[in-house]
Amino acid sequence: MKAEFDRTRTLQRSAELAASLPAIEWITDSRVERLSQDFYWFSPVLKRQLGELRADAVARPRTEDEIRAVVAGCARQGLPITLRGSGTGNYGQCMPLHGGVILDLSAYNQLLWSRPGVARAQAGMRMIELDRQTQPAGWELRCVPSTFRSATIGGLYGGGFGGVGSINFGPLASTGNVLGIKAMSIEPEPRTEELRAPEALLLHHVYGTNGLVLEIEMGLAPAHPWLEAIVCFEGFDAAIEFANTLAGAPGLVKKSVTLLASPIPDLLLQAAPPLAGSMTPGGHAVFVLVAEFAEPGLLQLVREFGGTVTLRKTAAEVRASNRTIVEYTWNHTTLHAMKADKGLTYIQSGFQPGQHVQQAKTMRALLGDEVLVHLEFIRTKEGAMNCSGLQLIRYTTDERLNAIMQAHRDHGVFIANPHVYIVEDGKQGQINPDVVAVKRRFDPQGLLNPGKLRGWDQRDRLGEAGAPALATLPRF
Ligand SMILES: Cc1cc2nc3c(=O)[nH]c(=O)nc-3n(C[C@H](O)[C@H](O)[C@H](O)COP(=O)(O)OP(=O)(O)OC[C@H]3O[C@@H](n4cnc5c(N)ncnc54)[C@H](O)[C@@H]3O)c2cc1C
Repeated sequence: MKAEFDRTRTLQRSAELAASLPAIEWITDSRVERLSQDFYWFSPVLKRQLGELRADAVARPRTEDEIRAVVAGCARQGLPITLRGSGTGNYGQCMPLHGGVILDLSAYNQLLWSRPGVARAQAGMRMIELDRQTQPAGWELRCVPSTFRSATIGGLYGGGFGGVGSINFGPLASTGNVLGIKAMSIEPEPRTEELRAPEALLLHHVYGTNGLVLEIEMGLAPAHPWLEAIVCFEGFDAAIEFANTLAGAPGLVKKSVTLLASPIPDLLLQAAPPLAGSMTPGGHAVFVLVAEFAEPGLLQLVREFGGTVTLRKTAAEVRASNRTIVEYTWNHTTLHAMKADKGLTYIQSGFQPGQHVQQAKTMRALLGDEVLVHLEFIRTKEGAMNCSGLQLIRYTTDERLNAIMQAHRDHGVFIANPHVYIVEDGKQGQINPDVVAVKRRFDPQGLLNPGKLRGWDQRDRLGEAGAPALATLPRF
């Protein structure tokens, strides 16, 4: 971590900036500590590395003019700016390495417009709120993280991948999911620019290091009444074959298929009282969201693979209870399992489409009880059915954690390492000169989330990158 910013100066200048903009909501009390953090502690490695980080002040603007005023002030003072939605990211993405100002966008949260199949919203809008506003007209977000209740559209764009719905639409980065963004530059006189896809994706999943996203225009999906079910199996093979067949069944309208191999269901039963009686102890569980009208087809597959439906809730029952099984899938599985066993952490993996079932079986046989299998069935960016793993790991040492990730790579399984905070060390895997070129354009002083984009430190070696080379866009 290079110390490019003098902390005594950032503290003093942040306080001066806050005093000079009294109409804006500033937070400078003990809440700054919480607002300087995300869910970095899922990783024992990041917990050690990032635990002490703290911003100097938090600004919570409500309008584009207020955002511009804070940005202009930071640019004049040379203050680091770290963007924040709801702080549910997992890799210390919104944790400031060098202090300065956290720009909390959660109050910049209006739906700007929606029409059949498309909506445009301000970055701080929570995903649950966007769905609430578009569902009455029959449309909803195409893919949401299991944190949809609190997380923002801007945070998903800046630090997320996809989630529930990615079984139909792939990750957020799939062509057609993000149509355009409006971004603001970090300069004494901030500019705004509209970027249309595919250029708009050059600011995606780079932790808010190369531009401040104000608005996002996204494709929407038809909103169905979703039936929620848990199907339990005695054997792992039957469970994964069922999950894979259901995921690939073209005639069954679905939103999510999650496989939680034994003993994960037992950990969830232990950690989450609302799940009592909803799974067979000792079994393997498949969590499913299908359209209500697809239930007969679901039950046909359950019979075919010898499963037992242990929970069934209609869309109306889900709405009335305000509880959804979505909040036990994706990284919510990790969250609940860690409550039951504090020695757990996780990894993120992407299998090879077509070989994914066999690869998952091979890795389970190879790594035994040390790696607990959690698979989310999704389409790849190119449209092939696949699964992505959020395997739980019984953590012992950093060396062993790295060896487990390497064993996956050695068997052709892609790893998006969640135990690192530098963009290129995670999913991106390498320096992308186009991402750095966008940063030159939108953040010439290098003030956005400094220390997280390695390509910026090597910008002179990279030279002036030209037009986006799409082949280098992140894949997962
Ligand atoms: C329990 C749990 C479950 C999760 N499940 C999923 C999942 O299913 N799928 C998934 O993809 N992720 C998942 N995540 C990660 C995270 O919740 C999501 O990515 C979420 O969308 C982040 O939104 P946020 O508003 O909390 O973003 P934040 O954490 O506030 O920010 C995330 C990153 O985006 C940047 N950013 C925020 N706003 C902007 C902006 N306006 N312009 C540019 N950059 C910006 C921030 O600087 C930061 O680097 C999970 C996390 C947890 C803890």
